Amino acid sequence: MSTFAILTSGGDSPGMNCAIRAFTRTLIFSGHKVYGVKKGYEGLIAGDFIKLKASSVGNILQRGGTFLQSSRSEEFKDKKFRKIAYDKLKESNIDGLAVIGGDGSFKGAYALWEDFKFPVIGIPGTIDNDISGTDYTIGHDTAVHTAVDAVDKIRDTAFSHDRVFLIEVMGRRSSSIAIKTALCSGAENVVLPNQEVDYQDLVQSIKRGESRGKKGSIFIVAEGAREGRSYDIQKNLQAKYGISSRVCILGHIQRGGSPSPHDRLIATEMGFLAAESFLKFDEPKVIRQKNGQISTASFSECLANDDGIDFEHIEVIKKISI
Ligand code: ADP
Repeated sequence: MSTFAILTSGGDSPGMNCAIRAFTRTLIFSGHKVYGVKKGYEGLIAGDFIKLKASSVGNILQRGGTFLQSSRSEEFKDKKFRKIAYDKLKESNIDGLAVIGGDGSFKGAYALWEDFKFPVIGIPGTIDNDISGTDYTIGHDTAVHTAVDAVDKIRDTAFSHDRVFLIEVMGRRSSSIAIKTALCSGAENVVLPNQEVDYQDLVQSIKRGESRGKKGSIFIVAEGAREGRSYDIQKNLQAKYGISSRVCILGHIQRGGSPSPHDRLIATEMGFLAAESFLKFDEPKVIRQKNGQISTASFSECLANDDGIDFEHIEVIKKISI
């Protein structure tokens, strides 16, 4: 019988609980012990572990967030604190650690392997869908659902009052939520993170709509480097082009909520394969989705932030919003 642990790190995302549940029950089914680490790497350094039974992960499948809680830990970037975390794992006779999080969390997990050869498995969990080596990250689908639902509601007002709306969605370095939300809500245009705003293009979208009697326009803005970017765009549209607009920042509602069936399915498959991977562990792996299949990848493939801007979809948005 072996003992394994699981933690969630970085920003929470809907579906993390499904992965914890599948991981825990798969290992218990095979006769192994599982611990949950509270609050990510912070809890790992503190040795804050709870023994998980099959019933401990009951009734969490449908809940957003992570019942183990998450954190960002600057200390864990320092080898001195990783040694403390390693010692805590050893004291509890833990043989392997699964980490659910983004590329930053994966760097932390891989450091545990490089420093102490401690077995680790990564599971991609972030609403942004921006990790290299995987086509999908747990929580992305639910976040897009939430954003599209919100835009549908705002469009009612945009139409009723002939208004231009700038709707800001999450995505510091990632454009995926913005592009999919724009496509699925029939937005007139999309502004990507770290992209110079093309005001001529935005104005043209509005004029084109007006010329065929369109009531109101919706622009989806990815937050980029800092939340509230839409207010700058709003000011410039007014000052330079005399166009009045309203801003709506969707904010953290995109991170929470009950996971969609798609997220539940992928998270369960990933949690299951993570557990199975420990049972035949040879080297650290990240569980990923590639070409529709859940499979494993090396850590080195999955340590980078990869926005993978979907230019084809941007083209579609432009063409069908005429
Ligand atoms: P995400 O996992 O969503 O990308 P962060 O980038 O905030 O989120 O990373 C989460 C945590 O992972 C950090 O707070 C830190 O504890 C750990 N981490 C990030 N980068 C490293 C690194 N280079 N070495 C060790 N730990 C890291």
